[in-house]
Amino acid sequence: MKTVIRKFLLAALMIIFLFADLSAQSRRDVEQTYVLEHPYHVDKITPPKGKKIKNVILMIGDGMSLMHIYSAWTANRGKLFLDNCQAVGLSKTYCTDKLITDSGAGGTAIATGQKTNYHSVGVDTEGRPLKSLIDLASAKGKSTGIAVTCRLWDATPADFCCHNKDRDAEAAIVTDYVNCKADYVFGGGANLFENREDGRDLFKELRANGFQTPRSWDELVAIKKGKVFAIPYPIDTPLPAERGDLLARASLKGIELLNQNNNGFFMMIEGSQLDDYGHFNDLNLLMQETHDFDRTIGEMYKWASQDGETLVVVTADHETGGLTLVDGDLQQGKIVCKFSTGGHSGVMVPVYAFGPGAEEFTGIYENTAIFDKIKKLLNL
Ligand SMILES: [Zn+2]
Repeated sequence: MKTVIRKFLLAALMIIFLFADLSAQSRRDVEQTYVLEHPYHVDKITPPKGKKIKNVILMIGDGMSLMHIYSAWTANRGKLFLDNCQAVGLSKTYCTDKLITDSGAGGTAIATGQKTNYHSVGVDTEGRPLKSLIDLASAKGKSTGIAVTCRLWDATPADFCCHNKDRDAEAAIVTDYVNCKADYVFGGGANLFENREDGRDLFKELRANGFQTPRSWDELVAIKKGKVFAIPYPIDTPLPAERGDLLARASLKGIELLNQNNNGFFMMIEGSQLDDYGHFNDLNLLMQETHDFDRTIGEMYKWASQDGETLVVVTADHETGGLTLVDGDLQQGKIVCKFSTGGHSGVMVPVYAFGPGAEEFTGIYENTAIFDKIKKLLNL
């Protein structure tokens, strides 16, 4: 019975993606206008003065380029939390066998310091598993975590915890989480943890490995210590308007737990669905996701500013949609944009750094250098 339901769900998903792709095609090269009706307040956040780095928060906007950021900045009347950063660099995102990378190879480079083949997650070009910043930080006695708004079999979170040369091998990919070194994981995708054709119950296996497995926000909030694997949603988390500041809350909850370790922590936070709305060429939802990600960045900057020993690095794995801002009005928060592709495009993506060690991130470098810099700064 479960197999039938899964096949039905897969067919439904394929139809949704087909229509999304068709509607994306009809939207391509067509001007879209977006006005942010209620701009949000942006505080000035002062970076800490000290030099010691105990924790690193790495934030990845999936498919987020400077054009996304500049459009979001215009819509919010010339203000973003991101602007509080101290240092900016540029990252080259190409992978080993393609100029235009996907999230699998793009994220693997950031997570493991090695460029790999298109569609690979957490493995080298020969398919051999690579150690990620999560593994290295954990081996040094730090706590580690992940918070995303997508299904956990999606490429970016998988790049940090899973190993497969085919990112589409979703049912196999999620089994790697059972033995992953993260102490806190928040995301969607419960479907493949329990409704499995191989009969495995990954939640049960996670609990056997010492994880608590809350299935709702209320259950998660009640947890005050220990390892947590929180998957409140069957696939992705809800749309931004519906989920509110869930990404910021889930990230702060993770920090509350991880920060109990005197050795510090490493955490990866992803604004996952920017990429989806870039693919769908949907400017409205893309801006909602970008603003949600920026407000989450603001919460992380505020926390880091108070803490004094936390570096926050914000970057992307590639650009999605070939977004171009062709007109707009800063006073009205109006933007007029076009998309040139339903896929990814080739452009360097920005790296923003806030906190101790931020100056290390200036310059132009390979995406693998983000791994190298964090590894060096945390002495991993
Ligand atoms: Zn991506």
